[in-house]
Amino acid sequence: MALREHIQDIRTEFPILDIMVHGRPLVYLDSAATSQKPKAVLDALDKYYTQYNSNVHRGVHELSQQATTAYENARQTVANFINAEHDHEIIFTRGTTESINLVASSYCRKYVKPGDAILISGMEHHSNIVPWQIACEQTGANLRVIPIDEQGELKLETLDVLLDADVKLVAITMISNTLGTINPVKEIIAKAHHLNIPVLLDAAQAIQHMPVDVQALDVDFLVFSGHKMYGPTGIGVLYGKSKWLDAIPPYQGGGDMIKSVTFARTVYNELPYKFEAGTPDIAGAIGLAAAIEFISQLGLENIAAYEQELIQYAYQELQNIPGLRFIGDSKNRAGAISFLIDDLHPYDVGELLDKMGVAVRPGHHCTQPIMDQFGIPGTVQASFAVYNTKSEIDILIKSLHQAIKMLKN
Ligand code: PMP
Repeated sequence: MALREHIQDIRTEFPILDIMVHGRPLVYLDSAATSQKPKAVLDALDKYYTQYNSNVHRGVHELSQQATTAYENARQTVANFINAEHDHEIIFTRGTTESINLVASSYCRKYVKPGDAILISGMEHHSNIVPWQIACEQTGANLRVIPIDEQGELKLETLDVLLDADVKLVAITMISNTLGTINPVKEIIAKAHHLNIPVLLDAAQAIQHMPVDVQALDVDFLVFSGHKMYGPTGIGVLYGKSKWLDAIPPYQGGGDMIKSVTFARTVYNELPYKFEAGTPDIAGAIGLAAAIEFISQLGLENIAAYEQELIQYAYQELQNIPGLRFIGDSKNRAGAISFLIDDLHPYDVGELLDKMGVAVRPGHHCTQPIMDQFGIPGTVQASFAVYNTKSEIDILIKSLHQAIKMLKN
């Protein structure tokens, strides 16, 4: 199915796309930060709160059973979506950030000793840097970093030096939120596994743009957020192979994560509950399942193909703007395009575009090391989702010309 032919129907699924911003129709090009939500997701949230709001697990009454069934069905929906072998390998969290913190805390407590190392890359989001720095501080381990080149691609040849028996985990993004680069994660996993080193993939910018199959990847941990894939904020996923989730200690203590508690001793619950202390985001999980159904109905391959058309078009049109340079020039890319225009400050460009109804994101995109590497204060970023159109890209280009004229005069 070519989504191009159904784009108006797709857009009507997103009520927010009808609003005006500063008197202009909204052109939303900030989906890498968070995507807009289709009616199916909004309806699922509304239905939960108006028809069966109740706490999950342990309840005997009707509403609690309905909520528990919907929550556990959502887990199954996520498991099917990423082809996990078992439902209990899906842990609901607050998002990518919490999922990474969970692994950094629980895995490192058990497996990482002074002198060991954690390997990340030079294009990681702060949420895939800082949790490992905290873990290194606590365990006496070192952080190693795979460098990136001028194109914004990983210097893979350095892996042969950086990967050795001291490395206890590799944590790497599938797609860079700032550069748009798609990383060759299968190759990295194969190299790490050759030395029996587990790999965590940050799929925050991949899960909405390409099919992800955890068994085909043979990845040990995979993390993503609901709100970037048409779902609600406050819900996310940690996938982990059973063998790892069984082996590592709990992250937080509290209700639901226990089998029995005495003052002398607590016996932890089985997976997945061992990692879901306290009342979870029930509505969020149900909303996330609705988002996955929305994506599945369109088909991720179709979404990817349509978004590639948009990206190629945007790339080609942006190239014609005098003084524009791309930050991150990988040919293998998805999601976002970052650029700068001469010496114009990204915030000035972003603010003027906003006045014209065009929502882009100026800044460091929570990737300050990338900014340092390129010696820049930030970038202007346009990012794309399935509801965007070529005519919106035309508006972006026209607005950019206007903004440049205003800022250079
Ligand atoms: N990793 C990447 C690659 C991201 O793009 C983001 C969000 N911009 C995160 C992690 C953090 O996600 P969240 O804020 O939803 O936890």
